Amino acid sequence: MNIHEYQAKELFAAYGVPVSKGVAVQSEDAFDDALNQFPDEGMIVVKSQIHAGGRGKGTFTDGFQGGVKLANSKSEAREIASKMLGNTLVTHQTGTAGRKVQTIYFTAAESISHEYYLAILMDRDTSKPVIIASTEGGVDIEQVAENTPGKITKVFVDPTLGLQPYQIREVAFGLGLSGGAFKDMGKTLKGLYDFFWQKDASMVEVNPLIVTEEGKVVALDAKVGFDDNALFRHADIQELRDLNEEDDKEIEAAKFSLSYIALDGNIACLVNGAGLAMSTMDIIKHFGGDPANFLDVGGGANAEQVTAAFKIILSDPKVKGILVNIFGGIMKCDIIAEGIIEAAKKVEITVPLVVRLEGTNVELGKQLLTESGLDLVSADSLSDAAEKIVNLVKHA
Ligand code: ADP
Ligand code: MG
Repeated sequence: MNIHEYQAKELFAAYGVPVSKGVAVQSEDAFDDALNQFPDEGMIVVKSQIHAGGRGKGTFTDGFQGGVKLANSKSEAREIASKMLGNTLVTHQTGTAGRKVQTIYFTAAESISHEYYLAILMDRDTSKPVIIASTEGGVDIEQVAENTPGKITKVFVDPTLGLQPYQIREVAFGLGLSGGAFKDMGKTLKGLYDFFWQKDASMVEVNPLIVTEEGKVVALDAKVGFDDNALFRHADIQELRDLNEEDDKEIEAAKFSLSYIALDGNIACLVNGAGLAMSTMDIIKHFGGDPANFLDVGGGANAEQVTAAFKIILSDPKVKGILVNIFGGIMKCDIIAEGIIEAAKKVEITVPLVVRLEGTNVELGKQLLTESGLDLVSADSLSDAAEKIVNLVKHA
């Protein structure tokens, strides 16, 4: 789960990470009240809140340039904010459809002396949190990694020991800091790491983390994602969920405890077990098709969940065929067959459907499907099933 910059900054502040004063608003009526909280003199930055980076260099679909803009006065800030709110922002991370801006964040402008990059992520190879820091902030870190890898400092943290003082110094030295900024950076890094660890974040990225002309460290941007599997431990974080930023189909799937992820292809998969779902997607690819989703109905799915799964799959206009691939272990094949028959009564299945059942009560399951008179193609093996659905979709 991801959150907005303004939400992340509130959490940062609670961990002693310095952020600029800011106010988030969801409607134009609230602009004046928000802007009145800033001093009359001084510049204000107007920031579109969407769950994607690259906002500063983004373009709105009506041609307005920049999702992050500096205003010289409150009236200018107001004018810019009204152009952004409700408008759709396209950045290199949103895809061409862009994202509708539903929240504006007004924040005090800082005088930047230098922009740094700082991130904390879970490194899968070492199973450790890794701190990534660079003197080249404000730009794409991927480009820095590609062109000047020497400008990136990486520090791996042993999860049982936690972040050690020498590691904090290593990062601050790596950024070439000294004096007050060196000390501030240490405190900031400690705060960010504690936040990352205690809140089960999967990513904390501050780009840029700046040193101001007065030598103060400030987190100017904040991109934070949390581990969904740990969200049950953090009611406060769950409250920050913004459903406007999530795929409707994924939200619906979560209600029925289905693991669903929308993909770009046109062959929908309904599978029990994450491993089987992965291999089903692989084999669809192998036969030249493209999966429209990852969908794991779990080990003990019931008819209600299977019906919900079909509804979700069919609400995606890209879907041109469905492959049901079930291994009956804990789940018996006849129960799944009943689920499919129930689902077909409630949702009209308008695209080719291939069903492959294997395992406990497979004969009974197949018999139920045949007797139901449902318009489906049954398959005997995983490759048979994949080949059949790919051909059906190709020739549809
Ligand atoms: P994004 O990464 O989505 O483009 P940022 O929050 O990083 O958005 O803003 C883009 C750039 O705008 C920053 O790299 C920084 O140069 C400038 N900027 C952002 N916030 C402020 C601020 N409060 N004061 C001064 N400049 C800012
Ligand atoms: Mg940024």
